[in-house]
Amino acid sequence: MADQFRYAPLFESVKIGPVTTPNRFYQVPHCTGMGHALPQTLVAMRAMKAEGGWGVVCTEYCSIHPSSDDHPYPFASLWDDGDLANLAAMANAVHAHGALAGIELWHGGSYVANLASRSPSMGVRSALGRTDPIQSQRMDRRDIRELRRWHREAALRARRAGFDIIYVYPSHGYLLSEFLSRSFNDRTDEYGGSLENRMRLMRELLDDTRSAIGDRCAVAVRFSANGHGADHLSEDEARDVVAALGHLPDLWDVVVADYDEEMGSSRFVREGALEDRVAYVRKLTGKPVVCVGRFTSPDVMLGQLKRGVVDLIGAARPSIADPFLPVKVREGRLEDIRECIGCNICYAHNFRGSALRCTQNPTMGEEWRSGWHPERVPPGTGGSVLIVGAGPAGLEAAHVLGKRGYSVALTDASREAGGRVTRESRLPGLAEWLRVRDYRLGQIKRMPNVALYLDSRMEASDVRNFGADHVLIATGAHWRRDGVGRRHARPILTLDPAGVYTPDDVLDGRLPHGEVVVFDDENYYLGPLIALKLASEGAHVRYVTTEGRAGAWSQFTQEQERTQRALLERGVEVEVNMALEAFARSTATLACVFTGRTSEVPASAVVLVTAREAEEALYRALVGQRDEEETAVGAGQPPLASVQRIGDCLQPALIATAVYSGHRAARELGRPVQAPQRERVLI
Ligand code: ADP
Ligand code: SF4
Repeated sequence: MADQFRYAPLFESVKIGPVTTPNRFYQVPHCTGMGHALPQTLVAMRAMKAEGGWGVVCTEYCSIHPSSDDHPYPFASLWDDGDLANLAAMANAVHAHGALAGIELWHGGSYVANLASRSPSMGVRSALGRTDPIQSQRMDRRDIRELRRWHREAALRARRAGFDIIYVYPSHGYLLSEFLSRSFNDRTDEYGGSLENRMRLMRELLDDTRSAIGDRCAVAVRFSANGHGADHLSEDEARDVVAALGHLPDLWDVVVADYDEEMGSSRFVREGALEDRVAYVRKLTGKPVVCVGRFTSPDVMLGQLKRGVVDLIGAARPSIADPFLPVKVREGRLEDIRECIGCNICYAHNFRGSALRCTQNPTMGEEWRSGWHPERVPPGTGGSVLIVGAGPAGLEAAHVLGKRGYSVALTDASREAGGRVTRESRLPGLAEWLRVRDYRLGQIKRMPNVALYLDSRMEASDVRNFGADHVLIATGAHWRRDGVGRRHARPILTLDPAGVYTPDDVLDGRLPHGEVVVFDDENYYLGPLIALKLASEGAHVRYVTTEGRAGAWSQFTQEQERTQRALLERGVEVEVNMALEAFARSTATLACVFTGRTSEVPASAVVLVTAREAEEALYRALVGQRDEEETAVGAGQPPLASVQRIGDCLQPALIATAVYSGHRAARELGRPVQAPQRERVLI
């Protein structure tokens, strides 16, 4: 009760122009990898946020015209009336739970390549886009008039679709930021030169939008409060824009110049980190302000309100990790909040062109496809389950099976639960990842039907003797010691075993010293973090990667540049496009991945971050040698009802994959398995 009172300010309504929010929880526009391509998936996902108490739920970037097409990324679109039905479905679904629906009208400018629409892209000047060797068309006055018409028509459509808050979007490098940019905008007409001219289009779109829909809908603007870097829009100029146009929108949704920071992972950016850059906007404009900050703590949220930084608590990732965060705060169930860990796996999958998923919330993206609810699971059919391995997969399975009413025994050989998460979270910057373990441990501790046995290694005979009705094997995976990975399909022939280490060694505290080569053929976070750790322990580290950049896959999690910078600043030597070919007599032989040309470097040890092997001996002992056999074959013992592998033991992959695997297995246990629904175009 005390908590409810304490957090009451978070549940006050806020007037935004002609509309009023039910509370201060605001899901800002965020990409989903669903957009126009997966409308039913999207509607169910957004509706879940509204059901979970978010007072405002917005779309992702919504293109106003075919000249702004971000294919293959599935953005939202309002190109014509044919787009209305899908977006109206989202607005209706959000309204059904009492929330407001927001829509972010967007034109990508030179950034997009229009690979699907094949329209020329359009920019303040002709410029190269983000990736493709394609330049935009320079916009003339007629194009600008057309753009204003498209934007106005899209706003009118958005109103017809039922949206309450309609955005003008002059940030993140898209078309309107091009106009604002001092170096990009080389125009000599009334849209170029002075700041007044460069912000003319932004002003016009705000005016146009207000006159089109302002009677019934709020006009919001998403703007970088500290500009776009000194060359484009300086901090002072950004302030001048806010001062000049502050009165025009009903809501300022403020962001910062550096997307890597706005969207920063927990490795590099803490909760509420944008405050110092954005706090002035509310004071200067007197308008309601919303800003993100990966807020998961209601106390930090309250602090933002008390200090007058924002009126609305913006969230993308916290609403993905826990769509029911507001309900849990309202009900005083803070320990039930599934806090975002800041890993950016959600963003990475959008970046890969696939639907959103989340490490902490395995139901994300499955609301329509699999009919999963983040808070509710179907009742079980009764019986007992033994889960071997309390890593992310085993913990998640225990949590779900406990909720379903099964009698669950969760065992782990280690003295600590959490598996790889516990071990990896000791690496530099990964402390928040422990939330994967702690949320689940917190939940199962309160379940009388779930027992956790640590320091309990299980052999096949132990499993059989345990006599559970169902067995889930979640024993994880270990790193290979022979160099097999992407580069080497067979073991590296020359590897002096005395100096060969794997990530498991490092995570278990067996550290190499001296001249160390970290060979990264996996190319995500572990290789670079191990290099950093060893360097901080005094080793001279050479990080060798088969890719062109350090931790190349982390480009998708928005961490790559900071990763490489951190390595270089720590004095780690970074060698790209190189592979380890041999290691003997204090020398590592490296080969260029293009030419095969070799070179030798001094090395007292090598750490092989290559591939992993599933820890499946126990599973094999239980099911016998027949791979397809899923029924246990105990020597002279009655067969177990079911044995299955989950998590890394099934497929060494991301932590998100392991959690998902544990969740799916636990949800489906004892039920007929149904294939997920598919969204497809039918003729
Ligand atoms: P996942 O990501 O799939 O959850 P992890 O590697 O994180 O896998 O966790 C696997 C866990 O299984 C580890 O904590 C490990 O101690 C435990 N484990 C492995 N083999 C056994 C075994 N035979 N008996 C009990 N626990 C085991
Ligand atoms: Fe947070 Fe990671 Fe989930 Fe994204 S994937 S919402 S960063 S926990």
